[in-house]
Amino acid sequence: AKERGRNTYEFYTPQLTEEAFLRVKMEAEIRMAIEREEFTVYFQPQIDLNTGLVTGAEVLARWLHSERGIVPPVEFIALAEQNGQIIELGEVILRLACRQWRCWSDNGYVLPFIAVNFSARQFEDPRLIERVKAIFAAEAFPAERLEIEITEGHLMKKVEQTSAMLEELKSLGCTVAIDDFGTGYSSLSSLKKLPVNRLKIDRSFVQDLPRDEDDRVIARAIVALSHSLRLDVVAEGIETGDQLLILKEEGCLIGQGYLFCPPLPAATFEKLLLEEGKL
Ligand code: C2E
Ligand code: CA
Ligand code: CA
Ligand code: CA
Repeated sequence: AKERGRNTYEFYTPQLTEEAFLRVKMEAEIRMAIEREEFTVYFQPQIDLNTGLVTGAEVLARWLHSERGIVPPVEFIALAEQNGQIIELGEVILRLACRQWRCWSDNGYVLPFIAVNFSARQFEDPRLIERVKAIFAAEAFPAERLEIEITEGHLMKKVEQTSAMLEELKSLGCTVAIDDFGTGYSSLSSLKKLPVNRLKIDRSFVQDLPRDEDDRVIARAIVALSHSLRLDVVAEGIETGDQLLILKEEGCLIGQGYLFCPPLPAATFEKLLLEEGKL
């Protein structure tokens, strides 16, 4: 009884307060990190599975923390989505990505596209389109070089409003990919209506290949679906040669994963381009 009493006490006051305190502290840290320009973007190539050539790159946010080192997005994106900071952070990330693309382009390398992750929360901002356009203009970035990645779950949250905004972004020239495809609940009929160019097969269906026959069937179904809707399809999280082999057998043409390359800081990505004779 004594123990339960103590736990109850801890549950109702100090722990909750501590959690709230940590959240507020983290929020202030993110704000400061934006001001101090501690966020950066890494690039992970998407590979043409037949030729091995780079078709584009996904942009992944990193926080270069003075004490903690490189902080991965799992540690700050969810909080930034909850408290709305993702609107500003998303802008920072998009600007950095466009700027880097422009820098490579000025040096003679035109990366076919950069794929930037957008959160549902960003589509709740009525000024999103304006903000994106302003960044394109400021960074002299051609809209056709941006692919917007939105997870299936996020897209389905407010499907009408989000797809209207995606439609506008598409009319600027951007393309749209549904991320983590297969994990959400988009119906086939809504998929046909959505302004989408590409499906990304979620890593959870790739990681257990070739052992998991169900996953192979799911991968096959997503490839078939993308073909019949005339969408491109990309497999994410390819780590082994066996996984690659199966995905190729199932008709997947583009892939991304540690087998080819991890996400790299711009300077390292550049070295890769140099080695391929592109820079
Ligand atoms: P995601 O969009 O599904 O990104 C793919 C994640 O898988 C990345 O993790 C990438 O590093 C990782 N990955 C790539 N290849 C492999 C592989 O072969 N094996 C394994 N196990 N993992 C692989 P990362 O960079 O930690 O990002 C995690 C998530 O954070 C992303 O998942 C995305 O949802 C979110 N995120 C990252 N950057 C941004 C951003 O700028 N904005 C928003 N809204 N979300 C972001
Ligand atoms: Ca993504
Ligand atoms: Ca994904
Ligand atoms: Ca599985």
